[in-house]
Amino acid sequence: MGGGTQASCDRCKFEFTGGHSHDSGSAACLCLNCFSNFECVTASRWGPEVGEVIPLFKVVTRGKKRKRTVELVPTGVTFVAEGGVAGEDVRYPSITYPISNVPCPECHTNSLVLGFDNIQQCPKCREGTLTINFVEH
Ligand SMILES: [Zn+2]
Ligand SMILES: [Zn+2]
Repeated sequence: MGGGTQASCDRCKFEFTGGHSHDSGSAACLCLNCFSNFECVTASRWGPEVGEVIPLFKVVTRGKKRKRTVELVPTGVTFVAEGGVAGEDVRYPSITYPISNVPCPECHTNSLVLGFDNIQQCPKCREGTLTINFVEH
C-alpha cells in the first residue's frame, strides 16, 4: 500500500492515478462507463483493515482553475475490504477491494476500477494507449 499506478493516455488528456494514498487516506476509483470519479475512504489513512466497511464518495469538482474546490459527496454505497495474498512488506498485508462487484452509484453498471496495471487501450478516447508508471504517493 502507498504505491500505485499512474496511467496516462498518449492521445487525449485521460489520466488516472490508482492505489491507496497515505496523504488523503483514500484510494481513487473510476467508472469506465460514465467516467465519474470516486474515492474509497478508509478509517485509517495508512490503509484499510480486512473486513473494514469502506464508503464510496463521489468526487465533485466545482469552479475553475484557482477557485476550484473538490468535495467528497457520500454515495451511500459501501463495500467490505478483503484479505489478499500477503505482500512482501508484512506491515502492509495486501488488501483487495471487491470493487468489480460494486455497481457504480451514478450509472449502476459494474464498471468501477481502482487503477490500471496493464498497458491497454485508453478507455476514454479508445484511440490512444495507456502508459503505466508505478508511483509512490
Ligand atoms: Zn485517450
Ligand atoms: Zn458509472
